[in-house]
Amino acid sequence: MRNFLSFIGYENSLKTKDKFTYIINASSLFLVFLFSIFFIVLVKHVWINSITLLCFTILSLVFVLLKKKRYRLAKIFLISGFLFQECTLVFLWFPVEANFNYFFFIVTPISFFIYDFEIKEERTPIVIVNLLAVLLLFASETIPMAAPQVSLSENLLLLFSGLSVISTLGSIFIVYYFYARNLSMSRRELSRLAETDYLTGTFNRRILYREGEALFSYCKKKSYNFAFIIFDIDHFKKVNDQYGHPAGDEILIQLTRLISANIRHSDVFGRYGGEEFALILKEILTETNIDVAQNLRRIIEDNVFIISENLKVKITVSMGVASFSEDQKTFDDIVILADNALYKAKENGRNRVEISPV
Ligand code: GH3
Ligand code: MG
Ligand code: MG
Repeated sequence: MRNFLSFIGYENSLKTKDKFTYIINASSLFLVFLFSIFFIVLVKHVWINSITLLCFTILSLVFVLLKKKRYRLAKIFLISGFLFQECTLVFLWFPVEANFNYFFFIVTPISFFIYDFEIKEERTPIVIVNLLAVLLLFASETIPMAAPQVSLSENLLLLFSGLSVISTLGSIFIVYYFYARNLSMSRRELSRLAETDYLTGTFNRRILYREGEALFSYCKKKSYNFAFIIFDIDHFKKVNDQYGHPAGDEILIQLTRLISANIRHSDVFGRYGGEEFALILKEILTETNIDVAQNLRRIIEDNVFIISENLKVKITVSMGVASFSEDQKTFDDIVILADNALYKAKENGRNRVEISPV
């Protein structure tokens, strides 16, 4: 399968819409193939067989164009091949009761699938193709045709109308399935990007605030308690100056891992900004906040950050701790108290924890 995919030029690095063009083309080829078997075996009409063969050739040509990276042309060929076969089936050969005109419904999802709505130039083909499909569908239902070339028996009519309905609904399901899957993957990626810090992969300030504010309102109602710890690496500018910015980055990454490994599952830890981090401790007694902070400070102080074989660095942090109390009005009040405590820790000599008076 992998060999076949690379033979026809499919690569994982392709843009999503171009990947979809491959998928749609392969599905269309499969459908044409399926129907051509029915036509050859049951209808035995030389013109229908020739047209089907022509469509098969056009769709095969789409793969050649895709392989040559002529994506725009490939998409035009794909839609044209599809509409061409549809028109011949609907307007020339079969009575409208065979429901071949249902396939015009598939044009809408296909057009949105293979063209990128975000690209301005690609909106025009989406509109044109859909207008065309609507007109053709309308024409097939309203304009009286010359007698169809193929008259089908009751049973064959039933078979083809059933197949048309199943294929149309099946195709629409597949198209929307992939579309929805792609959308949910993009949404997940988007929320991951919006919630995490790009360097360390931990939560960002936005999430710290979101969690903090939610916890604050909860504690206001339920008289629970929580604590906010903010800490800042001591003399980090010097670390950067001495070992270089990439080494500084590596320390931030390793520090994140170190903290994450030493907190509870329920705690919310994130990068507050630059070389400042914050930790929200849920449901904790005021006396133990200090212990948690002191313990983490000590763990950081004792840790050796291995940047390379020859470069091992030690750092310290200063911490400010503040707890929830009933008289605070917003989560910001706790952040300010913790920030002031951190400032005091810096003033009092660094590598220490200061607790904000409640
Ligand atoms: P102190 O906090 O002890 O007062 O001294 P400091 O040297 O750490 O001072 P300050 O907090 O003002 O400096 C922050 C430094 O952190 C400056 C900046 O170069 C560095 N920094 C901030 N973000 C990053 C980052 O993403 N990567 C690296 N390598 N350095 C960063
Ligand atoms: Mg700082
Ligand atoms: Mg600092």
